[in-house]
Amino acid sequence: MAHCHQFRTLAESELGYVGICEGCRTVNVAFQNSLFCLSLNQFDAFRELIHERLAMRPVYTSHGKELLLPTPMPNYFLLFAHDEVDKLGALLTEAAPVLEAERILDVSRTN
Ligand SMILES: [Zn+2]
Repeated sequence: MAHCHQFRTLAESELGYVGICEGCRTVNVAFQNSLFCLSLNQFDAFRELIHERLAMRPVYTSHGKELLLPTPMPNYFLLFAHDEVDKLGALLTEAAPVLEAERILDVSRTN
């Protein structure tokens, strides 16, 4: 389905935002210079991944970044400081109740 993504902002902070496209229901999690495009059903798993720091490896850098998150692209990793992961987690927590409501809405639309 070709459309212009019309994103409605659900949560935002100085470092990023969470939005949902009214057309295709894609959830955008923008944080610093990263953009995660998720389905409504993937959002909870992503939130858990961030909160529990799943799939992240401790790493030492000389720039205060302490956690390394692999991406599907070989040789490309995301680096986070602990407080950045906390801030991303807070953003996801803020958006979670609205996304839960959106999911219930989607289920009731298709039934
Ligand atoms: Zn869209």
